[in-house]
Amino acid sequence: MNLSQVTGCDDQFLSVLGGSHRLHPQVVAAFERLQVSAATAGFELRAVSCYRSFERQLAIWNAKAKGERAVLDIAGKVLDRNRCNDWEWVQAILRWSALPGASRHHWGSDLDVYDAAAVTADYRVQLISDEVGPGGVFCALHDWLDTQIEGHSAEGFFRPYAFDGGGVAPERWHLSHAPVARSCERLLTADALFALLEQQPNFELWPVVAEHWQEIYQRFVLAPLSAQAQLAAGRGRV
Ligand SMILES: [Zn+2]
Repeated sequence: MNLSQVTGCDDQFLSVLGGSHRLHPQVVAAFERLQVSAATAGFELRAVSCYRSFERQLAIWNAKAKGERAVLDIAGKVLDRNRCNDWEWVQAILRWSALPGASRHHWGSDLDVYDAAAVTADYRVQLISDEVGPGGVFCALHDWLDTQIEGHSAEGFFRPYAFDGGGVAPERWHLSHAPVARSCERLLTADALFALLEQQPNFELWPVVAEHWQEIYQRFVLAPLSAQAQLAAGRGRV
């Protein structure tokens, strides 16, 4: 992997999963093996979101920065732009959306999943905590995935957003393929990402991001790494 690929600026390395999604070739193979294993346990493991480009992430960022797309608080309630200063607004966006160039979905290693066997064909997956938590429609799948991850039977997948470390919100639906993701994490340094972002002509709220750069990088880009460390140390999980 190189920096262009890791920041979502080059998609030539991707393979197709299930006709419509794209992932790193190694991750397609691993996810297909995990799907077979899930099927034996009665689940129809499917991807809802896989690779996302820099341009797509920038469009999401800009829409949220301008208040054209909903920005949610920690409880999932819609926030009022007029009641937040610019720095509060940037942090609220970052809780649920990555900076362009810093989304794990750029890497082809990460995807959001659900259980198609648990819902009707016309069900629209929302990717909210009510779906994946206790009593949620996809809770059984995620309990099974937890067991596979803990037993090292998850084909290399783990949960980078399992914990709330004061940055990115917990996202139980988000899986990451460790062997590919680790090589990407090493390339995504604070300086390389800053250099890419400061040359973007249409990046809303960039002066606010630049002013708080070190804190943003620590809390919202590096946070998944500390979640892995917690997991490795065997502390409780969410
Ligand atoms: Zn995700």
